[in-house]
Amino acid sequence: MTSTLPSSFSSAAATPDAAPRPVSLRIRERLEAAGVPYLANDNISAHLLEGELEQLEIEVAGKVRDLLRSLVIDIENDHNTEETAERVARMYLHEVFKGRYHQQPKIASFPNVKKLDEIYTVGPISVRSACSHHLVPILGNCWIGIKPGERVIGLSKFSRVADWVFSRPHIQEEAVMILADEIERLCQPQGLAILVKAQHYCMKWRGVKEPQTSMVNSVVRGDFRHDPSLKAEFFELVKQQEALLAT
Ligand SMILES: [Zn+2]
Repeated sequence: MTSTLPSSFSSAAATPDAAPRPVSLRIRERLEAAGVPYLANDNISAHLLEGELEQLEIEVAGKVRDLLRSLVIDIENDHNTEETAERVARMYLHEVFKGRYHQQPKIASFPNVKKLDEIYTVGPISVRSACSHHLVPILGNCWIGIKPGERVIGLSKFSRVADWVFSRPHIQEEAVMILADEIERLCQPQGLAILVKAQHYCMKWRGVKEPQTSMVNSVVRGDFRHDPSLKAEFFELVKQQEALLAT
């Protein structure tokens, strides 16, 4: 006579320690031990070990698969959603939220040898983000005004740093502040002004369903803050750049 073990035996025998600890838990514990914040719009790339991003991708895909199952979607038989979990995991970690998990693109700055001190504006720069509250898109444009200081960076670099900062879950007001901090760190301008106009899909697609509403906000620092005429010049230059778009 053969005996079979009760089905509960195997799970009772496995100690909880035997289960591999999720990579996200290991990273969170490391961040907490170091006292490093990991809010939705923080970059944590400096605290990821080699290979952990790939492990995170696998973990996130598993959770998205569970989410789809909880939404009662038959991912086993629906050819359209078969690979959705993997796509969503890749999209979050390497595209729309890459500004959390990837390092800032390399941006070289150069000494301002000609002592340039006239203001200039760059824009519109497309910005793509997602609201921290619903994880749906925030899409818009950004203008950056600079009164050069000790160092200068190339024009295209403003797009790169804006893309990196905005590619995180955000609220627009904080995104603009973080972008200003990064630009100040990169080229220490005498004055910095940033204007962002964006449409929030949590207002267009859901909730109040207002298709036309946009949010406009700005930050002004240094000489743009202290000199009202310089600030007015920035907004005038942005108006001119917008007029160019209409032609
Ligand atoms: Zn929202």
